[in-house]
Amino acid sequence: MNHQQLAALLFPDVTESREDVEARFPKRDLPEGAKVTRIGPSPTGFIHLGNLYNAIIAERLAHQSGGVFYLRIEDTDQKREVPGAVETILRSMAYFGVYFDEGATIDGNKGDYGPYRQRQRAGIYHVFAKWLVEQGMAYPCFCTAEQLDVTRERQQANKELTGYYGPYATCRNLSLEEVQANLEAGKPWVLRFRAPEEQGTILVNDAIRGALKMPSNNMDFVLLKSDGIPTYHFAHCIDDHLMQSTYVIRGEEWLASLPMHVALFEAMGWEPPIFCHTATLMKLDTVPDDNGGEKQIKRKLSKRKDPELALAYYQQEGICQDAVWEFLLTLLNSNYEEWRIANPEASYLEFPYTLEKMSNSGALVDLEKLDNISKDVICRMPAEEVYKKWSAWCKEYNPDFYALLTDYKDKTLKALNVGKGGKKPRKDLVSWKQACQFMSFYYDETFQREDEFPEQVDEATRKEFFRRYLESNDFSADQSAWFANVKAITGDMGFAVRPKDYKKHPEDYKGSIVHTTNMLRIALTGRANAPDIWEVSNVLGEDCVRARIEKWL
Ligand code: GLU
Repeated sequence: MNHQQLAALLFPDVTESREDVEARFPKRDLPEGAKVTRIGPSPTGFIHLGNLYNAIIAERLAHQSGGVFYLRIEDTDQKREVPGAVETILRSMAYFGVYFDEGATIDGNKGDYGPYRQRQRAGIYHVFAKWLVEQGMAYPCFCTAEQLDVTRERQQANKELTGYYGPYATCRNLSLEEVQANLEAGKPWVLRFRAPEEQGTILVNDAIRGALKMPSNNMDFVLLKSDGIPTYHFAHCIDDHLMQSTYVIRGEEWLASLPMHVALFEAMGWEPPIFCHTATLMKLDTVPDDNGGEKQIKRKLSKRKDPELALAYYQQEGICQDAVWEFLLTLLNSNYEEWRIANPEASYLEFPYTLEKMSNSGALVDLEKLDNISKDVICRMPAEEVYKKWSAWCKEYNPDFYALLTDYKDKTLKALNVGKGGKKPRKDLVSWKQACQFMSFYYDETFQREDEFPEQVDEATRKEFFRRYLESNDFSADQSAWFANVKAITGDMGFAVRPKDYKKHPEDYKGSIVHTTNMLRIALTGRANAPDIWEVSNVLGEDCVRARIEKWL
């Protein structure tokens, strides 16, 4: 077989040489040790937590080293593509504070190593595909899906390895004339890699998993599909070489095809990037056991069963960006929590992330843990920042509340400072969505009574207490003077000022100060559980406090 002729026959339109193409992607001018990383999501419209998990690793590696982090759209599977998916990717990444130095933009490209959408790079892949054919390392295959099915069934029946290889790789031996005849007959073809006859082992040093020893590739896998678009394997090799990725961070589902990638880099004569295969995200699930009870199992997060797999979930729930980062950093590096305790004020971006501290067993996504991290994160944030982030979320997801936050900015800022100071600051806010619910009592527009007044206190007594409170309360009093007054009315009306007195002799009292303050709290906030009454009253202001109490007189 004359490989040059075969190559010319298959790629009549390719005029460039591989050197020509490589010259268009000059060596990046970066400081020593700078890492070049990327994410390569497919534009399927579904972007998940695993994408963000990998993006954070890649972003950290690049930006901690003064390198480059870029976005490549892996759109080789046109069937799965949905319109607007690139925008979704960019917007979700931006929501979580992940920004690219270069890569695909909504309608174009930013950077010198593009285009950053794989389908737009078809011409580039063809140059290298042609070169492989010229070297005798790739060949066209005209087998139909039906023929491949027959082969697979035979292999399965014989308990043999399935796939296109060795004796089963029938198109390997087509003559130039046969190829020509097939092409003239308009038969569709794919381009296959010609695997070496001998199978050995490959050694790859995965930056997360350590030394990996695997059998070398023996499959004549597909490089170009019948529409001329590359497979992931081929596109990955060409792109990560030309775009000069130094680290490839991707899910462990790609481990199995690593031998193909190693074979391709070797065939091209290129040094492969450093591979980092990340663990799949898992969750604990409760399932029935054999004895009619329940047991917990660790399983992969599933798109169908677990809404928390989708990044859209965190956006819709208004989980604060910083909380999601901190949560993922705790999954990524075992020492993150320790670092956070030692550096309570620092930005998570100051954390020295390292690949060495990565675990390669499935990372556990625990939403309760995320909630706890969120509470801490929001609690640490100055009120102005909470206001800014919360209103940005409302603007998109809760316009009515956004209007309230805009109309009552000063009151909101004051409200956000309630319970903030002191040794044990309150951790009321978990997410922006929950904040709209939790903070609703501050605004007359959304205020609602959610809890009942204590039933130990009859209506007449309650009214009397409220009346006396309004008569005696000094709205400019400090907290201790305010409380002294509440205690005075409480005692005067036959309630125990000390809850423990009431506990000991309930028959001697109408109730205790717990009941009287609860009535106030419910009148003012609608809830039995709410922040400090005196602080809340200061935010609401005298008119509002009066109105809310007078309503019950
Ligand atoms: N398109 C691949 C995926 O979505 C990217 C894998 C990689 O980063 O190389 O899994």
